Amino acid sequence: MSKAYPDQEIWFLTGSQDLYGEETLQQVAAQSQEVAAALDASGDVPAKVVWKPVLKDSDAIRRAMLDANGDDRVLGVITWMHTFSPAKMWITGLDLLRKPLLHLHTQANVELPWDSIDMDFMNLNQAAHGDREYAYIATRLGLARTTVSGHVSNPAVTARIGTWVRAAAGWQAAQDLSLVRFGDNMRNVAVTEGDKTEAEIRLGVSVNTWAVNDLVAAVAAVDDASVDALVAQYEDLYDVVPELRRGGDRHESLRYAARQEIAIEGFLTERGAMAFTTNFEDLGELRQLPGLAVQRLMAKGYGFGAEGDWKTAVLVRVAKVMGAGLPGGASLMEDYTYDLTPGAEKILGAHMLEICPTLTTSKPRVEIHPLGIGGKEDPVRMVFDTDAGPAVVVSLADMRERFRLTANVVDVVPPTAELPNLPVARAVWEPRPDFTTSSECWLTAGGAHHTVLTTAVGIEAWEIFAELARTELLVIDESTTRRGFADQVRWNQVYYRVAQGF
Ligand code: MN
Repeated sequence: MSKAYPDQEIWFLTGSQDLYGEETLQQVAAQSQEVAAALDASGDVPAKVVWKPVLKDSDAIRRAMLDANGDDRVLGVITWMHTFSPAKMWITGLDLLRKPLLHLHTQANVELPWDSIDMDFMNLNQAAHGDREYAYIATRLGLARTTVSGHVSNPAVTARIGTWVRAAAGWQAAQDLSLVRFGDNMRNVAVTEGDKTEAEIRLGVSVNTWAVNDLVAAVAAVDDASVDALVAQYEDLYDVVPELRRGGDRHESLRYAARQEIAIEGFLTERGAMAFTTNFEDLGELRQLPGLAVQRLMAKGYGFGAEGDWKTAVLVRVAKVMGAGLPGGASLMEDYTYDLTPGAEKILGAHMLEICPTLTTSKPRVEIHPLGIGGKEDPVRMVFDTDAGPAVVVSLADMRERFRLTANVVDVVPPTAELPNLPVARAVWEPRPDFTTSSECWLTAGGAHHTVLTTAVGIEAWEIFAELARTELLVIDESTTRRGFADQVRWNQVYYRVAQGF
C-alpha cells in the first residue's frame, strides 16, 4: 500500500522491564511486533511504522530517544507499555525527546479470555495499569503528547493515529520551512504583521525577504521554449478562454503568467523554499500581479500568503503537507462578503486571484480581467467553485506576546446561484455552529481575515499541530457557544502567559 510519506518513519517503542523473565519478554516482543505491523499495514497510517526492540531500562530508553531525534526520517515516536515499565526509567529519555510523541494505550487481545485467564495472562497483559504509570510521568514532565486508546483493529484508533502522523508531518514541514517574501507586507495592515524571530523559535520556520527586482530578473531570464511547453500544458489542463489561447489577442498575457510561474518556482527551488508571499503594492517591473502562477504553485504544494502575509503562507504549507494524498486540498482564503438571508447565512470566500485549484475537482477556466488596484496589466487567473463538503478555516495571529491559531469548522456548499460576473475562484460556506455564533466568536478571538481553507484534513490535525507548537488554538465548531468561547478567550490570556514562563 502506498504511503503519503513513503520515506518517513514512526518508531514504535514498547516498554517493559527485566522482572518478568525471558519467556514473557519474548511474548512482549512478538505481540508488540504484531501491533506495529498492524499499524504499518493500515491504510490510515501514512508513514512506515518501524518496530524497535523492547525497552527494559533507562539507558536503552535514553538511547532510543536520542536516535529518534537524530534521524531525519523519523516523524514521531509511538510508545506503549505492554507490561509494567516503572516510569522513573522513562524520565531521562522522555526529557530528551524532541520528536512528536503518541502514547498508544492498547493491548494485544481484543476480548478478555474469560474462561482461560490466569495469573500468567495477567502478568503479560497489564497495559491497563502499565500505561497509567507511564502517563503519570509524561504528565509530570509536562510533555506535549497525543493519547490514543483502543485496539489497533478498531478503525477509529488507526484513523486517530493517522491524523497524528499527518500533524507530525506538518510539524516537521514547519521546522524545515524556508519562506521567501517578495517585498514587505501591505501598507498599514495590522494582522498580517508578526514577529518573524518568534515564528522561527516557535514553529521553526525561517522567514526572509528578497527584493522584487530579484524576481523581475528571474522572470526576464526564462527561456521561450520553457514558456511554450508550459502554455501547452495550460491549454491541455484548463479551459483557457479563446483570447488567451495561442493565436488569441491576449495570448502574450498567458505567456507572461507562465514566465512568472517558471521564474518563481526556480527562485524558490534554488533557495530550498516551500512557501512565499507577494504584495500587489510592490511589484517593481513585474507586468502582472502573479495570479495563475501562484495558484499553480499552491497546487504543487507551496505555501502562499498574499499582501506579504507570511503567517498564512506557513499555514497553507502545513495544510498541504498534512493533507498529502487525501482527497481535497488547501488554499489561501479570505472572508470576503456575506449572504445574510436569515437562517441561511453564507460566507463567500475568495481573493484577488490566488485561490488554489486543489479545492475543486472541476476543470478550472483560465481567464483575464482587470484587477482594479495596483496599476499593472490585467492578470491571468483560474476561476472555479470549490467542491462542497466539510472544511476547516484556520488563521494565525500575533497577539504580541504569543501566536494564536483560530479555527472554524465549516461546510462548503454549492453557490446559491451561478456567479457569471465574478472573475475569481471562490468558496461558499456555512460556518458551524451557525453564522452569528461563528462570526461573533471569530471577531472576539481577533482571528485574521486571511486563512488557510483546507478540505483535506479536519480540525483534529490542527489540534495536534497546535499542541506540538505549544500554541493557542481557539476552535469554533458545532459545540461552540458565545459565552463559553468568550470565557475561553479570557482564561487563555492567563494560561498562555503563565505557561510561557518569565
Ligand atoms: Mn488579502
